[in-house]
Amino acid sequence: MTLRPTDSSTLLIDGKLVPGSGGTFAVTDPSNEELLGYAAEGTAADMDAAIAAARRAFDDTDWSRDHAFRARCLRQLRDALREHIEELREITIAEVGAPRFLTSAAHLEGPIDDLLYFADLAENYEWRQDLGNAAPMGIPTHRYLLKEAVGVVGAITPWNFPHQINFAKLGPALAAGSTVVLKPAPDTPWCAALVGRIAAEETDIPPGVLNIVTSSDHALGAQLSEDPRVDLISFTGSTATGRAVMRAASGTLKKVFLELGGKSAFLVLDDADLRSACSMAAFTVCTHAGQGCAITTRLVVPRERYDEAVALTAKSMSGIRPDDPRDPGTVCGPLISEKQRQRVEGYIRLAVEEGGTIVTGGGRPAEHDRGFYVEPTLITGLDNTARAAQEEIFGPVLVILPHDGDDDAVRIANDSPYGLSGAVYGTDPDRIAKVVAGVRTGTLGVNGGIWYAADAPFGGYKQSGIGREMGVAGFEEYLETKLVAEPATS
Ligand code: NAD
Repeated sequence: MTLRPTDSSTLLIDGKLVPGSGGTFAVTDPSNEELLGYAAEGTAADMDAAIAAARRAFDDTDWSRDHAFRARCLRQLRDALREHIEELREITIAEVGAPRFLTSAAHLEGPIDDLLYFADLAENYEWRQDLGNAAPMGIPTHRYLLKEAVGVVGAITPWNFPHQINFAKLGPALAAGSTVVLKPAPDTPWCAALVGRIAAEETDIPPGVLNIVTSSDHALGAQLSEDPRVDLISFTGSTATGRAVMRAASGTLKKVFLELGGKSAFLVLDDADLRSACSMAAFTVCTHAGQGCAITTRLVVPRERYDEAVALTAKSMSGIRPDDPRDPGTVCGPLISEKQRQRVEGYIRLAVEEGGTIVTGGGRPAEHDRGFYVEPTLITGLDNTARAAQEEIFGPVLVILPHDGDDDAVRIANDSPYGLSGAVYGTDPDRIAKVVAGVRTGTLGVNGGIWYAADAPFGGYKQSGIGREMGVAGFEEYLETKLVAEPATS
């Protein structure tokens, strides 16, 4: 099978690859604004059929109880995806504008291989956990827990890292024994549709267990969130949409698992190697044009070294030119769409209106007259109350702020509605430990440490979300707990 993109214009509903009832919608290459082709336009009726199929597959089959079969299906899916890896890579670069170097890691290959971790969990997890004997109200009782799949999962995902986020939901949800309806973002339908095609044609995943409904209509996400046949919504996207999902889910009190926005701080202590810290902060914010929820977008440096830090960071950022994501040397590709570029440019204008100074970048790169590129942009002269320092921009834009010591750095990091991620650079382990303890975020990298891995739970404090993705904690989001009590025999 060859994965020609135009062939991917199908939904996956109840094991069948079907056209969208609404026809098709256009898929654009963000690096050159050219039409790549079309994706299936799912409608409310398609979503309804997908939810019904997922419900039937959960209620009427042995999927949720056959742990070994699920592990086998997940390994098959991973192996089949690997067979198509080069085609998937080219489609991912074209559709997402993902820099090629990242497709060997978090943009494609990493998440595909993470399926093996979840297959192993399906096989090795302690599904029955003994609680031993007790005598509540004087009655000798033996208790055990049964860990059971939550049921039908609605997975709603964004465009920025489509494979990473799709598989971080499909892997654990399917491993846990749930059935899934995936609604990917309108900007990146092919990444999901191709997975549906491979799952349908090259694995034994039973009909209805995995359903994928692409659409240009956000309302299908709301429909999925409201539907009483869905037991859990696993959502990744903006905090504003997360709130809407929570409201929609409240009618049926279904569980919501939310991975939302961030405005993470990169804290440089006064005993850190300033040069390496600034170059890491510059590289991070430019990677994938800053379109990562956990990317550090506030660089917080000692006040007495502020000017030096600005010069070092500006030098690094100006050396990273936005370029064609197909080039293996590109770090900063395009933004996903013209709408997103306008949003980022709006924030750059706002930063200047708020009194900020653009030290490098601020415009569109002269060498690209096509493609949704924005130059890496460093902003000085703001304090942490500025909107550009408080709100998620989701572009290659870094605000650099001064701090007056470790406690002040922690205060600035925490002075945010978000609490997703962050970084700390320093030398003294005791000071680093104190800063780590003070920062209220779900992940933290110290001196360049990488927190991303299949077994490492990821998620946010405060308005960055509820719950954890990946790792055992991410798997357990898709489980219910049943306590069974029986007369004690001894
Ligand atoms: P978005 O919130 O606009 O859309 C995300 C998904 O929600 C899409 O599939 C969209 O169609 C759907 N949707 C839109 N309105 C909906 C509604 N009312 N009900 C249900 N679903 C609805 O986000 P985006 O612009 O696609 O992605 C960027 C955002 O995602 C950023 O805020 C970023 O921080 C966040 N993000 C978070 C994480 C994380 O793990 N915390 C990871 C990646 C991206």
